[in-house]
Amino acid sequence: MRGEMKILVLNCGSSSIKYQLFEMPENIVLAKGLVQRIGEAHSEARQNTNGSDLVVNTEIGDHQQAMGIIEKMLTDSTKGAIASLSEIQACGHRVVHGGEAFTGSVVCSTELESVIENYSELAPLHNPANLTGIRAAKKMLGAAPHVACFDTAFHQSIPQKAYLYALPYEFYDKHQIRKYGFHGTSHRFVARAAASFLGKHKYGVDLITCHLGNGCSIAAIKNGKSVDTSMGLTPLEGLVMGTRTGDLDPAIIFHLIRKGYKPAELDTIFNKKSGLLGISGLSNDVRDLEQKEKVGLESARLALDIFAYRIKKYIGSYLAVLNGCDAIVLTGGIGENSPVMRERIFRDLENLGIELDESKNHSLRGTIGEIHAPDSKIKILVIPTDEEGAIARDTYALVREKELAV
Ligand code: AMP
Repeated sequence: MRGEMKILVLNCGSSSIKYQLFEMPENIVLAKGLVQRIGEAHSEARQNTNGSDLVVNTEIGDHQQAMGIIEKMLTDSTKGAIASLSEIQACGHRVVHGGEAFTGSVVCSTELESVIENYSELAPLHNPANLTGIRAAKKMLGAAPHVACFDTAFHQSIPQKAYLYALPYEFYDKHQIRKYGFHGTSHRFVARAAASFLGKHKYGVDLITCHLGNGCSIAAIKNGKSVDTSMGLTPLEGLVMGTRTGDLDPAIIFHLIRKGYKPAELDTIFNKKSGLLGISGLSNDVRDLEQKEKVGLESARLALDIFAYRIKKYIGSYLAVLNGCDAIVLTGGIGENSPVMRERIFRDLENLGIELDESKNHSLRGTIGEIHAPDSKIKILVIPTDEEGAIARDTYALVREKELAV
């Protein structure tokens, strides 16, 4: 049936809530919004419905209050999308860490909330905010079912040889120290879209998927399942990111502690002041850096070179892990929109059977398509990610299944 169910998708950060209202099963976006700077004096809420913008500037003390603003915006008589919240039949939530407990999305229960709470130790910046969002949304939406979609779930198929660190085994047993991987909803979405673009079954395709946004990660996908990924116990490992280091020699930490740095200080530096921003001293934003490189700023060039080099190294290692693949997929703000970065990554890979088509690369931005040369053995695809759409689809499927089961 058309327009059978309206689903709200929430992505709650510590001081922000991103949301989208979908009409399912068509996956039509009815409204899209962002509440920022929650808990600060000058908060802002912004919503777009059918091309028309609604902006509210007011002090928003906490997530519960932010939900109240979202309700007002969604039901606004001229620029809203619905007449009443009772039209929303289900709510999907992005949850960052699901540890080893979840291999897919699940309907929220009180027990599930305590599992999410337990994993807060492994994702202190994200899980508490995700949980606050679930609790606030439950209050707002009454009896509607809620579904949690975990960033870690898609990577639970990674084998032990890839997820264990070479530490004493008891660190895994006692403290759950292992690679979990993140951005799973995005890697899964683009992997399924790539399979369909290539005319293959979702479990019949080998891919390297590169999510290149403010956070960056890369995954090796064998027969549609994740077998390795660059992020680890936390989203700090792997590729160079906007402000995060990615891979480091762990001894750097001991060295810097001996030099007088405090662990908390290093945590902040590695997560918020490193990566493209740290190297360039200019910006964490690829678009900015590309402009600065054009006008001759050497530190911008260096940061972009290091960023691309790390991606290239991972592509090489995942080609070995997979023994070749059907396609390399690019997504995220950078992967979807920067032909200059794509050129940097794929330069001089022709001996590995990977060749970019310059003109296709330059003309493709923000839409699905292929950018490899006709002779390239391995295809290169650009696929815009849609994490919220994927969460809405999971939510719809689980709620329908539950309804059918009762
Ligand atoms: P995301 O986190 O997926 O929104 O991606 C953010 C990153 O994408 C930032 O580094 C942006 O500079 C980058 N980005 C977005 N559009 C472009 C563009 N047209 N050219 C280069 N980088 C872009």
